[in-house]
Amino acid sequence: MSEDIINKVRDAGVVGAGGAGFPTHVKLNAKVKRVLVNGASCEPLLSSDLWLMKEYPELLMRGLNLVITCTEAERGTICIKNKHPEVIKILKKTAEKDQFKKIDVFELEDFYPAGDEHVLVYEVTGNVVPEGGIPLEVGVVVTNVESLINIARAVEDGQPVVERYLTVTGEVKNHLIVKVPIGTAIGEIIDMAGGVTIDNYKIVIGGPMMGTVTDDLSTPVTKTTSGVIVLPANHNVVAGKITDPDRILRLTQIACCQCMRCTDTCPRNLLGHALVPHMIMRNLRLGVTHKLMEDALICSECGICEKYACPMLVSPREVNKQIKAALMEKGHRRERKKDEFKPSFFMKVRRIPSKRLVQKLQLGAYDTHPDYSAQDSKVKKVDIPLQQHIGVPALPVVKPGDRVKKGDLIAQIPEKKLGAQVHASIDGIVSSIGETIAIKQEG
Ligand code: SF4
Ligand code: SF4
Repeated sequence: MSEDIINKVRDAGVVGAGGAGFPTHVKLNAKVKRVLVNGASCEPLLSSDLWLMKEYPELLMRGLNLVITCTEAERGTICIKNKHPEVIKILKKTAEKDQFKKIDVFELEDFYPAGDEHVLVYEVTGNVVPEGGIPLEVGVVVTNVESLINIARAVEDGQPVVERYLTVTGEVKNHLIVKVPIGTAIGEIIDMAGGVTIDNYKIVIGGPMMGTVTDDLSTPVTKTTSGVIVLPANHNVVAGKITDPDRILRLTQIACCQCMRCTDTCPRNLLGHALVPHMIMRNLRLGVTHKLMEDALICSECGICEKYACPMLVSPREVNKQIKAALMEKGHRRERKKDEFKPSFFMKVRRIPSKRLVQKLQLGAYDTHPDYSAQDSKVKKVDIPLQQHIGVPALPVVKPGDRVKKGDLIAQIPEKKLGAQVHASIDGIVSSIGETIAIKQEG
């Protein structure tokens, strides 16, 4: 039975919808004690997961039961913030009625980053995932809400992943949750929301803390795109994300006053991991190959140091990101520095309340928890990336000029490689193939 589920999930191209897009069929091969559902909706402003939990609790739990079956877990726990009592009530009621009786609900406190995998596992189980490690090492698999919905649809109806739910907010006329075909241009999504309301703007793809900034309206939605946020070009959230990396390194060396606030509030440091961002900042001159610098590899890039903690407006997150890229290019591996991890005594008092974070980021006006709006049928052209997941890009199985139907396989996982299948998200004709497969509706 498990093999059948895993094959169907693989064929449907399901990936982790909340993070970097790890192929779900690979995750389902693990054997664990407990499955956690990450319903923290951790990033400010993003609310499609919350909406999905409210609208599709049965489907969510059927997906969760499939994961429990594959992983032979004793139980599955849906983790949601305690500030959503209505949704919690719906989930608890649905779990009570569930025939397998293996599902419960865990109420998280409202702080950032409650949805970071390592933080989530600690909050729910009391166990610390080792630094540089994965939840599997403490007998846990963490899944995303939309991934579970996709798993249920793949196994029950053979539906491939061709659509994505996401939040559109910021300086647009209407704040919405939409479901759009994978490959839809973000410009079209902004049009669905009534268009931009200001002249000089930038677009954050994903959340304000960990998302990326673009002004390219043709950027396509992928299986992992959780939000489109339009912000004034001079907004704090945008500024940190587009500052020239070299400038950030220079500034860091001049401006860091070694106040240690980045270290005091770093969620990974608070878990007891050997990540001490102010020490990395102090020792930048030693070069990326120095032993201390490899600690950047265990940074989650959550952005607290950059967007909340640092009084000098420098960015340990960006510095860590650059060090990581340099070390990974050299194929550098970091050896674990400890075996036991003792969370800080100050962990609870140093947590960042979500409300405070939204205030500090000046995002209050956009934190509106919008409703769903059905708009997907209008999309007539998509550009579907061959790489929307961890692993290698999928290999096209179609050519320009081919007619495809929504749900047809258009690119597949190369033999014996880590990857995910890719499917047509609308009916139409393949117009070009490069790093993406472009499909245009006829007529
Ligand atoms: S918070 Fe900023 S100024 Fe303080 S140690 Fe960290 S990087 Fe330096
Ligand atoms: S981004 Fe900053 S606060 Fe977050 S894990 Fe990395 S060093 Fe710590």
